[in-house]
Amino acid sequence: MTEDLTRQSAAVLAAAIAAKEVSAQEVATAHLERIAAVDGVVHAFLHISSDSAMAQAKRVDEKIAAGTEVGPLAGVPLALKDVLAMHGEPTTAGSRILQGWKPPYDSTVVARLRAADIVILGKTNMDEFAMGSSTEHSAYGPTHNPWDLTRIPGGSGGGSAAALAAFEAPLAIGTDTGGSIRQPAAVTGTVGVKPTYGAVSRYGQIALASSLDQPGPCARSVLDTALLHAAIAGHDPMDSTSLNAAVPDVVAAARRADIRGMRIGVVKELSGDGYQAGVSQRYHEALSILEDLGATIIEVSCPHFEYALGAYYLILPSEASSNLARFDGMRYGLRTGDDGANSVEQVMSLTREQGFGPEVKRRIMLGTYALSSGYYEAYYGQAQKVRTLITSDFNAAFANVDVLVSPTAPTTAFKLGEKLDDPLAMYLNDVATIPVNLAGICAMSLPVGLAPEDQLPVGLQIMAPAMADERLYLAGGALEAALVDRWGHLLIEEVPSL
Ligand code: GLN
Repeated sequence: MTEDLTRQSAAVLAAAIAAKEVSAQEVATAHLERIAAVDGVVHAFLHISSDSAMAQAKRVDEKIAAGTEVGPLAGVPLALKDVLAMHGEPTTAGSRILQGWKPPYDSTVVARLRAADIVILGKTNMDEFAMGSSTEHSAYGPTHNPWDLTRIPGGSGGGSAAALAAFEAPLAIGTDTGGSIRQPAAVTGTVGVKPTYGAVSRYGQIALASSLDQPGPCARSVLDTALLHAAIAGHDPMDSTSLNAAVPDVVAAARRADIRGMRIGVVKELSGDGYQAGVSQRYHEALSILEDLGATIIEVSCPHFEYALGAYYLILPSEASSNLARFDGMRYGLRTGDDGANSVEQVMSLTREQGFGPEVKRRIMLGTYALSSGYYEAYYGQAQKVRTLITSDFNAAFANVDVLVSPTAPTTAFKLGEKLDDPLAMYLNDVATIPVNLAGICAMSLPVGLAPEDQLPVGLQIMAPAMADERLYLAGGALEAALVDRWGHLLIEEVPSL
């Protein structure tokens, strides 16, 4: 294999490594060199794990040389969102409060990546504790979108998405609580999947909102995303909400990519006004391609979706305020006030004051208020009822259609700084992605073209019922193949060179 190794898909790299056309160590070196060359301007990574990556690549090469059977992604490099614990490697969740903390254990996702012989290159940047849609809430500075370095890469998993778009890694892991895999995928021209709640273990994921959080796969193509999905999904006794069911055959679905006879629902409430013109245009073009491929397009109504954002911004802060109580300066990372403080409470308060950024503090206060006595029923209780209504809307829709679609995000990548002082404008990015998390179902974002007005990527969201993740790959695979036919390449090939 002589071409630039960083431009290859994960599937192609894995095949070449298994066939000994290239070594896993050569592949890892090429990606580490690419990171060294471009990450100064992209800032996708918070930490590069060169030593452990090269050691893992060497083990893969040794296994292959010895004729040992290896997994379908053996030797392929991956970028890991910094919210997942990795033994002995810095894990900050984008927060100052976890600066210097090195987990004494692996998250289940990391354990499965290791078992699949995948090579973890390092930890990627993110909004602090995964709160945000732009990666600007990271305590370690923003990530830049490789399509235009003056723009955001989405969030909270902007580092993972930017690493893919900058060809620093062919695979990445994200986590999605309200859209943090899908919205970054949309604005960087990459593919991201939020699996069904419980499909991928949350053990070792630093919790934001435990009833919504879900790790998932990110890549530059639908097939690569499916291969990674298969590597990380499956029951885990360490996560009490882990699904104890067979993992759908997402890889076969991505390869089959056939949607003849599929009923595709267009969610009326997610398809009207409020989208940038070029986003709407590319979205409607994609719908007609899906129809040409043999699907039937049906309009469906989900009347309670208009309350989803409001319910989410009560449930998420409530759960976050409880989850983040563990960061008290006693057990992990940062501690301030040891010299001057005269009580344990004062150390905790100083540590939290200095360790948390403004968005995290805002949500802790919102959540603490929503859960407080006298307000609990009016806020948290009411939001939980809305959550049930949203699930019922999805159930009613899926009685008549196989999948639902919408644009992933209302706009293309906006400018860095543009929404930083306006939390509500930032929250509105997730209006189309949040209902999926509230209902625990699964969804994919994949690129469907560049918006004519700014030449930036547009994402289409495909949603499927819980435990029917394979439908995302059937539909996404078919649409991607049709678009590749039309363009002659994946959209990401059009990203400006860095
Ligand atoms: N942008 C959303 C938020 O700020 C989504 C976060 C996520 O999925 N982690 O809450």
